[in-house]
Amino acid sequence: MQNAEIKISEIFYSIQGEGLLAGRPSVFIRLAGCPLRCKFCDTNYALDSSAGKKMTIAEIKEQVKKYKPKYIVITGGEPMISPDLPLLCKSLKNFHITIETSGIKFLPRLKCNLMSIGPKLSNAYLKKSDKKRYLKIDHLKKLIKEYDYQLKFVVEKAKDIAEVKQIIEEIKTVDCSKVLLMPQAKNLSQYLNRSPLVARLCKENGFTFSPRLQLVFGEIKPV
Ligand code: SF4
Repeated sequence: MQNAEIKISEIFYSIQGEGLLAGRPSVFIRLAGCPLRCKFCDTNYALDSSAGKKMTIAEIKEQVKKYKPKYIVITGGEPMISPDLPLLCKSLKNFHITIETSGIKFLPRLKCNLMSIGPKLSNAYLKKSDKKRYLKIDHLKKLIKEYDYQLKFVVEKAKDIAEVKQIIEEIKTVDCSKVLLMPQAKNLSQYLNRSPLVARLCKENGFTFSPRLQLVFGEIKPV
């Protein structure tokens, strides 16, 4: 198990910038490869499955342990497409593990403390027909049934809230206290400009505003 190799884009120690654990010092393990191509993706360098370098699970664990973290964030790319994700999670079982996923694939019985799911709205699609690939309601249903979760939506315009509500309705069993909205932004100025709109939508709908601290602090990796 320790010899299994995974394509790693980067490992760094930083502050969780988004979601219910925003502000917690965390080690980020970014896996290479994602089948989606969201318009606003800020990790283009990790999308190709050949990006990064192969590391054994033992090497990954060794590097993670140097930071003595409590929290680990396994991100991407799309970590759920990695065949060795179950082994990686198992080997890091003594840490609090968040998996950041777009929710396009369900895997059962992962050692995961928080499934951080970011279903994509049409503001992410390159073309309308992308919806079939970007949004998998059946997988979302299974993920939130099996794991403690948060649902994070990237909002650009007021009309996006209709899609958020539609997805929640289709999933059916969503706990609204676990729904977070965050502004679509690639830089601090976009973040500040869109935050009041997102805050208003949160107040009107009882959702939680998620900060994006990485935009506020500047790129906060590595230290
Ligand atoms: S799912 Fe995430 S990593 Fe993949 S293209 Fe979209 S934003 Fe980028």
